[in-house]
Amino acid sequence: MLGLRADLKCTSCGRGLRGAGATQFLCPNCGEASIGRCARCRDQSVTYRCPKCAFEGP
Ligand SMILES: [Zn+2]
Ligand SMILES: [Zn+2]
Repeated sequence: MLGLRADLKCTSCGRGLRGAGATQFLCPNCGEASIGRCARCRDQSVTYRCPKCAFEGP
């Protein structure tokens, strides 16, 4: 198991972040929580919610 850590999941749908197109970034509001987005949710512009501050964004 190399590369991505096993606990990285898409914040919107809960799928593991694997494969091309998946991304991860810090919450733009609180800057503390990691937000994960899979390729599918990025493509469909599914909103995410920060687990720490409940910020929602596209
Ligand atoms: Zn997803
Ligand atoms: Zn946040």
